[in-house]
Amino acid sequence: MVARLAEAGVRDSRVLDAIGAIPRHELVPEALASQAYQNAALPIGEGQTISAPGVVAVMSQALELTGGETVLEVGTGSAYQAAILSRLAARVVSIERVPRLAAQARKTLDRLGIHNVVVYLGDGTRGRASDGPYDAIVVTAGGPTVPEPLLHQLADGGRLVGPFGRRDEQRLVRVRRDGDRLHTEALGRVRFVDLIGAHGWGR
Ligand code: SAH
Repeated sequence: MVARLAEAGVRDSRVLDAIGAIPRHELVPEALASQAYQNAALPIGEGQTISAPGVVAVMSQALELTGGETVLEVGTGSAYQAAILSRLAARVVSIERVPRLAAQARKTLDRLGIHNVVVYLGDGTRGRASDGPYDAIVVTAGGPTVPEPLLHQLADGGRLVGPFGRRDEQRLVRVRRDGDRLHTEALGRVRFVDLIGAHGWGR
């Protein structure tokens, strides 16, 4: 899988190493374990999905992490993206709105021996100012626009990556903070489950 991602243009060797190190088959429902190393999103219950490895790789690479960062993730889900980030940054704060998924994600991270990720239950579109500002923010559910509170919690020079746009298709964007200015780049078209919350879609 790592070789296929490298062929597909993922160049950051730290990202490829992290993808290679996390056993994705342990993060999907047992019945789907045989499909864990295909480049596809898979259902994890509660109508949610574990993101495809290719998408996780592209988003992780776009965050430009070097190891010392504090990262905020919105949408813990299976904890796959969080597990990858745990190897790329110093500390990961991840927020999930579905209680059962948050509880399961904590168990998964424990089982994998990952101790630099903390999972909070709540509406991630509000961010978590008390642990910020963040050097990087990744939103792993699709919202109408970049949630305003997250932009306020982005450190100077920080990068926010996430999918925004229509409910059935989004543009993956990277927003970079440069002092009071924000620069936005488009990274391609994607399809994510709904970002639901005060600064996302309604239920
Ligand atoms: N990063 C996850 C992707 C899971 S899918 C992984 O690697 O598996 C997106 C997740 O975002 C779902 O679990 C969904 O419940 C969650 N979500 C949606 N809106 C949210 C919000 N406002 N705050 C926190 N989590 C949210």
